[in-house]
Amino acid sequence: MNPNYEILEQIYRLDIDAGAATMDWRNAQKELNELAKRTKASEDLINKTKTDMAFLEGELRRQYKRADELDERKNERSAKLFSARNDDEHRALKREVDNLDRDLRDSSRRTEETEARIEQLKAILIKAENDLKDSLSATADERQKAHDAEARSSGRLSEIGGVRETYLARVDDRISQHYLRISKLTRNPNGPVTRVVSGACGNCHLSLSPQLLNNMARGKDIEFCPSCNHILLPHNQG
Ligand SMILES: [Zn+2]
Repeated sequence: MNPNYEILEQIYRLDIDAGAATMDWRNAQKELNELAKRTKASEDLINKTKTDMAFLEGELRRQYKRADELDERKNERSAKLFSARNDDEHRALKREVDNLDRDLRDSSRRTEETEARIEQLKAILIKAENDLKDSLSATADERQKAHDAEARSSGRLSEIGGVRETYLARVDDRISQHYLRISKLTRNPNGPVTRVVSGACGNCHLSLSPQLLNNMARGKDIEFCPSCNHILLPHNQG
């Protein structure tokens, strides 16, 4: 048996562990992203509500000012009613006062609407701020867990990397070179080494030639899949 096989078996096992650790690491990253997104949504709502409120408050100040102006004009015109010189003038002034009255009612209705909308926004703001506080404290725990999982899996990955290097140093140069190249190219979560399954490559499922399978059975050379170039391990190796 080619002694490289034994080492490749070890590397294969390490790669499977590394695949699992990579998955854990990605899940932890995803978790952290989700938590950040949740917080961001509350923060965005708070900022938007504050902007809307500032706008409406400006609007309300303008509406109050306009109401004061209308009121003043109405009082001025009403005072003149009593000193009207004739019926025509009196009628004209009366009409003006009536119009101002109508404008004042419109203005007061608009003002009430604006006040009500500001009240609504205040309620939204209070709720969003509470949500943010809740989500920050509730997620503190999850965040810690995700951080721990991330640290654990990346620690495990570098540990595996270290052991793998010592194994790679022990196989023939040609094989370790090949391994490193395929590890850059492969999308297989278990890495560049794959097991033969029912006479086919475990990575790309190409049916392997009887000659290649024979070579492997005799344990002479290390064989690569002719299609995906992954390093092949016999199927029955324990
Ligand atoms: Zn293949």
